Amino acid sequence: MATLETLPFDNAFARLPDAFYTRLPPEPLPEPHLVAASPDAAALIGLDPAEFARPEFAQAFAGNRLLPGSEPLAAVYSGHQFGVWAGQLGDGRAHLLGEVAGPGSGWEIQLKGAGQTPYSRFADGRAVLRSSIREFLCSEAMAALGIPTTRALCVVGSPAPVRREEIETAAVVTRLAPSFIRFGSFEHWAARNRPTELRQLADYVIDRFRPDCRAAANPYAALLSDVARRTAGLIAQWQAVGFMHGVMNTDNMSILGLTLDYGPFGFMDAFDAGHICNHSDDHGRYSYRAQPQIGHWNLYALGHALSSLIGEPDDVQATIESSYAPTFEARFMDLLRAKLGLAQALPGDEDFVGDTFALLQQQRLDFTQFFRRLGRLPARVDEAERAAADAPLRDLALDRDALDAWLALWRARLGAEGRPDAERQAAMDATNPKFVLRNWIAESAIRAARAGDFSEVEAVRACLARPFDEQPQFERFAAPPPDWAAGLAVSCSS
Ligand code: AMP
Ligand code: MG
Repeated sequence: MATLETLPFDNAFARLPDAFYTRLPPEPLPEPHLVAASPDAAALIGLDPAEFARPEFAQAFAGNRLLPGSEPLAAVYSGHQFGVWAGQLGDGRAHLLGEVAGPGSGWEIQLKGAGQTPYSRFADGRAVLRSSIREFLCSEAMAALGIPTTRALCVVGSPAPVRREEIETAAVVTRLAPSFIRFGSFEHWAARNRPTELRQLADYVIDRFRPDCRAAANPYAALLSDVARRTAGLIAQWQAVGFMHGVMNTDNMSILGLTLDYGPFGFMDAFDAGHICNHSDDHGRYSYRAQPQIGHWNLYALGHALSSLIGEPDDVQATIESSYAPTFEARFMDLLRAKLGLAQALPGDEDFVGDTFALLQQQRLDFTQFFRRLGRLPARVDEAERAAADAPLRDLALDRDALDAWLALWRARLGAEGRPDAERQAAMDATNPKFVLRNWIAESAIRAARAGDFSEVEAVRACLARPFDEQPQFERFAAPPPDWAAGLAVSCSS
């Protein structure tokens, strides 16, 4: 296993021409200390988790000490923010240290919050402890849920003050991903009418990550189709777990189909399809129910950027239309069937899934608890015992008659398959998490961390690393929001 000094860097992105980035070192932070670290993320780069305890670890991932072999840089990109062209953005507070060769593709290591870059515009290049803990916990939780995402190695804190709505303290979150290239990285070169760089970037992505596209009649159309299918699959997974990204701007959309740039994200508590997790999103552009269409919109922005490489505008449209919606619909239905304990696809399933969402919406049922508890219910039950058998779900419901009517439909649908209960229940437990990163859980870990106690961040990390296991020691993290958390609002400020 590698130490900090022996991580095998091989920095492919840094070998692209200078136009794609600015080389610059991170800006040091005073008195860095380790707040949290993920052994699972360390394993991806073959880093010995014993390294976490060295003072050099906090120094390296605060940006105070350069890792041998790293070549720090900030990448340029542009993008559409809230549907409006925003022009040049870029890594305003991220430093790509380089890429560590690993089993499979390499992993890029990026510091977020390590100081200003030429792309910082008027901002300070910093990140606060609160948002860094949120990104750390959610990255690792999403990975454990089986959802494609950038990863997080650690959070390092510092007493350095950072001004947001109030004065907070600085932190750096270290992220890992095969690549941080965004839809907006392509939009950048298309908007500047720079076909050479546009092609270089597309070739870089194809050659390094999607070599199969090379064999296609048009490799760039094949890339767009690949991105469309991955993005559709990703958003289907978000919907199925009740995750809301909060800021699906094209600069936050990964070309590899990863969940990227955790800001004011949220997980659904009491179900409301119109829920807006980002307090700054006045019109609900990025509400839960809007996410699938926004993914589609964002692919049009990417397709437009790639159109000079693909050829006819019709080909761009045809590529997106044949890839995005069909993949989303198929994947979403597969995921919902699994959540409901159904092994086969039968006619009428779309209607039943619609009935399920109507029930969740009408009764504002807790999304995570509903599916987890549903798994415990028997497929067949005598009328005399039904109320007792269904109590785990009936206790959540406001209108028990409506719930009972829906359960009768569910049991009829299960009866069409005849799968043994034990098998179905085990399958449901493996797909319906008991634990997700609810806002109140992140907030309570943040409050403790701000007071200097990092043990709750570690407890949440450890719990969410096994979201499908019962883990009775973490029962408290399975609960819906307590009263104190009712008014929690998460803004873009980070
Ligand atoms: P976001 O909304 O976090 O995805 O960020 C949009 C753009 O603003 C990106 O170019 C970020 O790098 C940049 N940005 C956000 N916060 C800061 C900050 N505190 N300092 C510098 N740049 C920032
Ligand atoms: Mg961003």
